Amino acid sequence: MADTRVNESLELPGFKGDLLHPESDGYDEARQVFNGMIDRYPALIARCADADDVAAAVRLAAARGLELSVYGGGHGVTGSAVCDAGIVVDLRALKAVDVDPAAKTVRAEGGVTWGEFDAATQEHGLAVTGGRMSTTGIAGLTLGSGSGWLERKYGFVCDNLIKAEVVTAAGEQVVASATENTDLFWGLRGGGGNFGIVTAFHIGLHQIGPTVFGGMLMYPASRGHELLRFYRDFMERAPDEVCGGLAFVTAPPEDFVPEPVRGQPVIGVVCLYAGPLEGAEEAFRPLREFGPPGIDMTGPMPYLAHQQLLDGANPHGMQNYWSADFLTGLPDEAIDTLVDIATKPVSPLTSIIVVPGGGAVARVDDAETAFGQRNAPWNLHYLSMWPDPADTDRNIEYTRAIAAAMKPWTTGRVYLNYIGDEGGGRVEAAFGPEKYSRLQALKKQWDPGNLFHHNQNIEPGA
Ligand SMILES: Cc1cc2nc3c(=O)[nH]c(=O)nc-3n(C[C@H](O)[C@H](O)[C@H](O)COP(=O)(O)OP(=O)(O)OC[C@H]3O[C@@H](n4cnc5c(N)ncnc54)[C@H](O)[C@@H]3O)c2cc1C
Repeated sequence: MADTRVNESLELPGFKGDLLHPESDGYDEARQVFNGMIDRYPALIARCADADDVAAAVRLAAARGLELSVYGGGHGVTGSAVCDAGIVVDLRALKAVDVDPAAKTVRAEGGVTWGEFDAATQEHGLAVTGGRMSTTGIAGLTLGSGSGWLERKYGFVCDNLIKAEVVTAAGEQVVASATENTDLFWGLRGGGGNFGIVTAFHIGLHQIGPTVFGGMLMYPASRGHELLRFYRDFMERAPDEVCGGLAFVTAPPEDFVPEPVRGQPVIGVVCLYAGPLEGAEEAFRPLREFGPPGIDMTGPMPYLAHQQLLDGANPHGMQNYWSADFLTGLPDEAIDTLVDIATKPVSPLTSIIVVPGGGAVARVDDAETAFGQRNAPWNLHYLSMWPDPADTDRNIEYTRAIAAAMKPWTTGRVYLNYIGDEGGGRVEAAFGPEKYSRLQALKKQWDPGNLFHHNQNIEPGA
């Protein structure tokens, strides 16, 4: 371990939460993130108890000129939640979720995960588009716009954001909404963690569940070429209520998988109907009739179970290398290229997810939020995951090879939440030049010294 400690002692008088130094019990556990490749040693992990604690930690980092990172749920694949030799503003103790069922709104604090959020809102039969894995933090996901199974019906999470409680780079506490600090509100909806630390999100909710039609159909990889063509045509005509996506995965060694299929590359079609149960069977009938799936796990189920469908396939602490691109379309040639590579993964934990666009996401006026690509028909996400660091090079090579092969069909824009550490050009590509300039001006206004740079960084404008 490199000596990354700061020589001076870091005190925070009046701090109500826990302060973890490198010698503290729990320090090693607290510095872990989802991606096992990340191994950083902060000088201080400030586990905040409230927004005043957050503000105090921000002011300390600014005053001492220290690195600062923000830990929401720790699922950022770049590991930007933790920094070396600086202060981690750790929000994991900020867990309040207060639902107002009559108003169909929720106030959820910055350390809440999607599992916790969904559990609290489902008590009232309410939900918003949420992360596809329940352990992901609501904070990082929402600030990057927030894609999830319900988005065709209800838009991204950020499209449902009503208000954010924010600690600024100056350590001040402000609110951003459609009526207060409206410029900041615009930037928080897709611009990532660049403009302040959000201690609480106020989000609009929709009637969903507690029972939904959901689950997954699993097809053998050998049917990939025809399945993708069918899925493309099916989704192009599907109503907004037909939600889900398609994933190239490896069949797990689970009881529900027939013995000969275990460990084989398969294609999962995730199905979620965002409407009355009665309409669901009919809506998904063409997909089920396309050919008998190897395994049919669809049917009425708790919304909470649907939201945890992928949890088991994404274990914490693996090596992760990700990338992503929006596509202009999926012509046959693109499908053939994708299927040929995606059905031959280097690691059985790797998945490649094809997320359909359209629906409510595409209907929001592009100027409304910082998010940069509302009209792409498909979003392609490459998630390479493997247990052994010795296999790193070949997994990275695989990810880059598939991304390169798909290049001819990419829009040039990327989804911020799905990319790794790919340089400033790719961050700019998330927004396009016009929005990026506006974001740089916003950054200059709210964080001129770029205190919040441990992220997919937008540098302050000149
Ligand atoms: C297994 C898995 C599944 C995923 N599924 C989806 C998905 O379905 N849809 C999707 O859109 N994304 C998904 N993601 C990507 C995810 O949205 C981003 O990685 C997101 O940053 C994670 O949020 P977090 O709070 O857990 O992250 P963290 O690692 O804690 O934070 C990442 C960055 O977000 C910023 N940040 C976090 N909290 C705050 C805050 N309160 N205030 C200001 N800035 C903050 C900081 O810049 C921080 O560096 C997934 C990631 C994983 C690992």
